[in-house]
Amino acid sequence: MLARSNHLRNLGKTISFVPTMGYLHEGHLSLMRLAKSMADLLVVSIFVNPTQFGPAEDLSTYPRNFERDQSLCRNEGVDILFYPTAAEMYGPRFQTFITLEQLPHHLCGISRPVFFKGVATVVTKLFHIVKPHTAVFGQKDYQQVRIIQQMVEDMDMDIQITSGPTVRETDGLAMSSRNAYLSASQRPSALTLYQAICQTKNFLESGLTDAKILIQKAANLILSFPDTSIDYIAICDPDSLEDMQTIDRPAVMALAVKVGKTRLIDNMMLSPR
Ligand code: AMP
Repeated sequence: MLARSNHLRNLGKTISFVPTMGYLHEGHLSLMRLAKSMADLLVVSIFVNPTQFGPAEDLSTYPRNFERDQSLCRNEGVDILFYPTAAEMYGPRFQTFITLEQLPHHLCGISRPVFFKGVATVVTKLFHIVKPHTAVFGQKDYQQVRIIQQMVEDMDMDIQITSGPTVRETDGLAMSSRNAYLSASQRPSALTLYQAICQTKNFLESGLTDAKILIQKAANLILSFPDTSIDYIAICDPDSLEDMQTIDRPAVMALAVKVGKTRLIDNMMLSPR
């Protein structure tokens, strides 16, 4: 891959890049379409990165279907599909990691303490191998995009980071590879993340701006459905991810909810009236 990237750059070609963990859905494909319009060649990676999973998380059961992913990539006109093995990415001597000081101490980083260290490290490695001019990430993982943007800025990486909007099922559920874990009976509970965000938007529209009250109302809605437990519900500053007390300026509502054993996340920008 590195040889190919160098060759393409020497030919004067621009490279856009969409990193994924595979089990592709319409959300991934929308990022590919966006990325394809931004450079001469589109590279997609599929790598279920072991360093971003905690010991009790779903690394071994994470859904995989390489054949299907490969044909979806072909249909989208992906020029290069990069799918390294864990052994290729992390040799036995591997010991260097990228960590950020502040952004990982909010939202998902609290219950997944190694997650963003793994993400920042693997994205850095992928950037060095693929050598993209531009890379596209999904807003679905809001904190992840913020962290990548910050890392690129801090480490002077010459890569333009773009984020693409969250693609949803027709009922509003944010598409995710992990939705494959949900049973039909868990589906209404899974939908409460989106419903809680919509409810918050409606309350905000009617003049309620107190974050604590809005979060409580969201929690009440979610917990009224079976099999749900809340990891976090936050209304935070879009840049720093610090909690906000009052929505008197643009904010992000972000939440993580477990439905049975499946952990789901969602988020949306909130703007005061
Ligand atoms: P993943 O395979 O889950 O690591 O995701 C790969 C990329 O796809 C990340 O940039 C995600 O933010 C993005 N992504 C995942 N789900 C969606 C979605 N529903 N809409 C848009 N982008 C998404």
